[in-house]
Amino acid sequence: MKVETLIAGGGLAGLSCARELHRTSHAYLLVEKEKEAGGLCRTVFDKGFTFDYTGHFLHFQKEEMRKWVLHLVGPELKIRTRHAVIYSQGTYSEYPYQENNAGLPSQTVRENVLGYLEATLRRRFLGADPSRAHDFKTWCLQAFGPGLSKHFMFPYNEKLWKFPLSKLTTHWMGRFVPSARVLEVLKGAFTRQSSASGYNATFLYPDRGGISILPRAIGRGLPGVWTGVGLQRVDLLQRKAILTSGLEVAYERLVSSLPLPRLAALSKGLPATLARSIRNLKATSIYNINLGLQGKQPIPYSWVYFPEKEFGFHRAGSVSACVPTVAPKGHASLYVEFSYRSGRPDAGKLGKHALQKLKELGWIQSEDQVVSRVDLNLPGAYVIYDEKRDETVAGLLAFFRKHRVLSIGRYGRWEYGSMESAMEQGLAAAREILQSA
Ligand SMILES: Cc1cc2nc3c(=O)[nH]c(=O)nc-3n(C[C@H](O)[C@H](O)[C@H](O)COP(=O)(O)OP(=O)(O)OC[C@H]3O[C@@H](n4cnc5c(N)ncnc54)[C@H](O)[C@@H]3O)c2cc1C
Repeated sequence: MKVETLIAGGGLAGLSCARELHRTSHAYLLVEKEKEAGGLCRTVFDKGFTFDYTGHFLHFQKEEMRKWVLHLVGPELKIRTRHAVIYSQGTYSEYPYQENNAGLPSQTVRENVLGYLEATLRRRFLGADPSRAHDFKTWCLQAFGPGLSKHFMFPYNEKLWKFPLSKLTTHWMGRFVPSARVLEVLKGAFTRQSSASGYNATFLYPDRGGISILPRAIGRGLPGVWTGVGLQRVDLLQRKAILTSGLEVAYERLVSSLPLPRLAALSKGLPATLARSIRNLKATSIYNINLGLQGKQPIPYSWVYFPEKEFGFHRAGSVSACVPTVAPKGHASLYVEFSYRSGRPDAGKLGKHALQKLKELGWIQSEDQVVSRVDLNLPGAYVIYDEKRDETVAGLLAFFRKHRVLSIGRYGRWEYGSMESAMEQGLAAAREILQSA
């Protein structure tokens, strides 16, 4: 079989690429190894509950992308308001922690606020510059000071990344780590204030169908989408791919949203140094437990960050707190996220721990309330930005591009990307191909 463009991976990036190529008579084929397209944006339905692969909330930076999505999905996507908090020292503090210390023990507030002021003075008068910090740990100390670092930034990030913070670079942070404003830090130390800061203070989400309505809308009516068949081998020099079905596909261009190290591992024609370099690419995985509960909505929070060690999970939340229709009437939903770096997560142990802690928190009264449990594993969910990541990724992407392979998407670029960026990269790849045809 021969196609102009072979698209490997049917998540948001691959589907967006196919949607754009479909606007012309371009001959493409999209192969997705799972039975259903959508990638991380699939949704699981169980006993009337709607569960995503952990919270998946849609937000945009670019008006062009917002319009593109709304045109495809329509009015089903509704504006929702985030209510994110941090739970520590027995208190819920509004997000972001650095600007909302009221209610915490006075010793903690003192350490946090004085430490922050000291760090601010060091930046103003002694030339400390977090933007030049070599590692994330130093960045935290220079931007937030020792108190906020000790009470939140260090323990939360250590729990999430399972990687030394002194070996993480700061290149992933961008809008994902909000900075602190002096006046807000001071005001928030004395009075509880609701906060709308951060990139995702509001987001879009449908009443029904979960986040999967997004990939479904992008893929609706698209020809040339094969599910249940994956890319098994690519000969970069011959421009031939072997699919898991055994079929050989000759292509002019390959667009891949497979994890970059996976694409490299199944490519023939990669120089040995590049093939070896994939050992430099590391990621942290997520194990997500979703619970459907009988009874009234237990918490008003869309999500809660848990920095303290006694909680094995780093984040837990309730989509039904902001979208009640994800649970049947008289019910609510909760989700809990554990991160891990190696080995297989022990579902029994993690579930037991989650239930025990949710009971202690008062989110559930008894295990009899749990009428649905759906566990979802997200291997390699968060790419680790260490000192080797940037150079390794740049080397692989440049080599693939030279061989007419565009590697796109959150894992194709091996980055900390959003749904918006995955779709945008899919569109950009298609436009580049169409322009060069
Ligand atoms: C825990 C978590 C929470 C997130 N929350 C948000 C959020 O709230 N808001 C937001 O904007 N973004 C969020 N994201 C990011 C968002 O999920 C991604 O940016 C986006 O879904 C990536 O789409 P993609 O197409 O690049 O990758 P994927 O969704 O991973 O798609 C890649 C596809 O390739 C397929 N594939 C793999 N190997 C093969 C093969 N050999 N052959 C064929 N197909 C193959 C996979 O099955 C998959 O379908 C979150 C991510 C994570 C991990």
